[in-house]
Amino acid sequence: MTTHSSASEPIPSVELALITGSASWGLAFPEDVPVAGVEVLARDIAFDTPYGRTENWKLLAFDSSITSDGRPRRALCMYSHGNLRDEVDHACHRRAFWVLREARVKRVIACSTVGSVNRAIRKGDLVIAADIIEPTQTPYSLLPGRQRFDASGKQIICGTCAAILAGTAGRLWPAEGRVHGIEQGLVAGHVYGPRLTTPAEAIMFRTLGADFINHSIAPEATLSREIGACFTPCAFVTATVNDYLNRDSGTLLEAGALERLSQVTSIIALETAAALPVGEPCACHGLLIPQPPERYARF
Ligand SMILES: [Zn+2]
Repeated sequence: MTTHSSASEPIPSVELALITGSASWGLAFPEDVPVAGVEVLARDIAFDTPYGRTENWKLLAFDSSITSDGRPRRALCMYSHGNLRDEVDHACHRRAFWVLREARVKRVIACSTVGSVNRAIRKGDLVIAADIIEPTQTPYSLLPGRQRFDASGKQIICGTCAAILAGTAGRLWPAEGRVHGIEQGLVAGHVYGPRLTTPAEAIMFRTLGADFINHSIAPEATLSREIGACFTPCAFVTATVNDYLNRDSGTLLEAGALERLSQVTSIIALETAAALPVGEPCACHGLLIPQPPERYARF
């Protein structure tokens, strides 16, 4: 049983959300990541939602000296997709995005690591997916019923934000790795985890058209669409297709790959958050379309 010591806080109004995950495992994000102009205003914040309590939130401030519009901005930061610390509960995504909707967040960045099932995508590459495969979509929808909104599956990743992320990564990513931008059309297959993918599952995703497998992209992308926000995934590759398929090796991840790239990925996420065009409309925001009242009122 998880104990809750902190009181629930009012939800602040912010433009941005950063979702941390395996890309920054072992780091306090952003405390362990030196980016001048980024400050932690509060940490260990808990919010009550209609679906239960969500914990481990931070409120970040970006100084006007580092933002693209020369104005200060704030972001809500959630550790590991809003998961509880001591148990696994995938419904955490609904609680987390309920908070982001209340906060009126319009842009979401999610950081993670992925395993490649495309032989041309190598360990140590940074990848920005263009599309996702998650056969169940999400069991954790926030839409108020099936008939009130048309939530599009097109442009599920924000092209504008992805281009800004790719530009930031292009400056900072180590030369031995590559940056795969959204224009490459790469597809992420989603699995919830935490168990890592079996060889047979890896073959299934490759057969379905995925280029890599990600534990933290589909509910985040779908729920971003459902709250009318842009979604941008920032991930790097820690395992290759050969790692997945080799049944003789009991472990999937090579020691050191995570530690080598988690710091720079975290810096890229923060610099991208400072560079996004907050306050401006985006085509993504128009892809959640209210339906005429008769579609849900008459039946
Ligand atoms: Zn967008």
